[in-house]
Amino acid sequence: MTQNDTATPTALAAENQMLRTRMAYMIDQAERNHSIMTRHQAFDLEIVGATSFPELVGSIFRSLPAISELDAVTLSLIDEDADIHTVMEKLGVDFAAFPDLLFEPGVEQLGFDMGPRQTLSPPPKPVLGMYDPARHARQFPQPAQRLQSVAIVPLLRNKRVIGTLNLGSVDPARFTPSLGTDFIEHMASIIAICLENVISNEMLKYIGLTDSLTGVYNRRYIDRRLLEEIARARRQQYTISFMYIDIDHFKRVNDTVGHQGGDEVLREVAGRIKAELRLSDALARFGGEEFVVLLIDADLDSAAFVAERIRAGIAASMIGLPGGVQLSITGSIGVASLDQTGDGPAEAAALELISQADEALYLAKSGGRNRVVRYTPD
Ligand code: GH3
Ligand code: MG
Ligand code: MG
Repeated sequence: MTQNDTATPTALAAENQMLRTRMAYMIDQAERNHSIMTRHQAFDLEIVGATSFPELVGSIFRSLPAISELDAVTLSLIDEDADIHTVMEKLGVDFAAFPDLLFEPGVEQLGFDMGPRQTLSPPPKPVLGMYDPARHARQFPQPAQRLQSVAIVPLLRNKRVIGTLNLGSVDPARFTPSLGTDFIEHMASIIAICLENVISNEMLKYIGLTDSLTGVYNRRYIDRRLLEEIARARRQQYTISFMYIDIDHFKRVNDTVGHQGGDEVLREVAGRIKAELRLSDALARFGGEEFVVLLIDADLDSAAFVAERIRAGIAASMIGLPGGVQLSITGSIGVASLDQTGDGPAEAAALELISQADEALYLAKSGGRNRVVRYTPD
């Protein structure tokens, strides 16, 4: 600012005008920044509140392009043994709904310069610059617009790269190497924390519902699912059936090949049962060497038909164990169907269905094993 006693009124008026214009510009900028900040705070709250993986990635893909005025937002996640993908799929995540969610087998695929030591320590900074289809096709497999500039922002947890947030714009000046990255680094750090949280929550959910030995569902899952399915079957008037499968003379298996060999047999039997089921059927290990199957929209005849296939599948061929041991295994199966006329509490119906299948299983055992018995009321 200039203080000049000899300034003419015209010069003062011009300076005044210039200051006004600058002021207006600064107020405009401040308001714009405030609005960006408010939108980002709302976004932070939205993603911090996400309780599931699909909810979180859904929020990121839906809200981030809008609040940040971006033309493409994709996420690359490192998923070394495809564990995340597998678990999410088992929990029913529909990946077709998230074409911009990309899984990468390792950090090498994220496109950072790894240097001669091939490591990412210290952790990489965001890389901003011109969009290059040859270099960025992996991060933007199907950009809807002609991108001009991009930011590849590492997602860091405890200095470890868990993936990248990939931002694209049709504006060539949007992301340039000279642009400060504090803001997007902060945003990426919140996204990384949220991702890690929901992923570990989903993993816990999955672990709580599955049997760690065989990977099939556990008893807790079936108990819950059974109640839901009984209610639905009653509403929609179809039959559900239940199968109780018990491996024959399993104590001898353990005695012959040891507990670890027995575990291997349990895994193989679970696989053989699963091979005979439809996607809508639920298989669980109830405990020990006992499995149960819940069949949706299947009457006693069709359930017994499937049970017979399972029985045959278990007995069909020897099971090979490490060390070259071959074992022949059989199983006995009891089958029951939900009484269509029942209208009491679902809990009571579930208990009855299980106990009828158990009763039929007992008859299969006493009748000589390696057989299927249907429950019939006496
Ligand atoms: P049956 O034909 O009457 O069913 O005879 P069985 O020997 O299978 O009888 P039972 O059901 O009483 O025995 C089950 C055995 O399964 C007893 C237990 O040592 C073994 N077992 C239970 N859980 C596990 C497990 O997780 N791994 C292994 N290897 N064995 C298990
Ligand atoms: Mg048993
Ligand atoms: Mg048994």
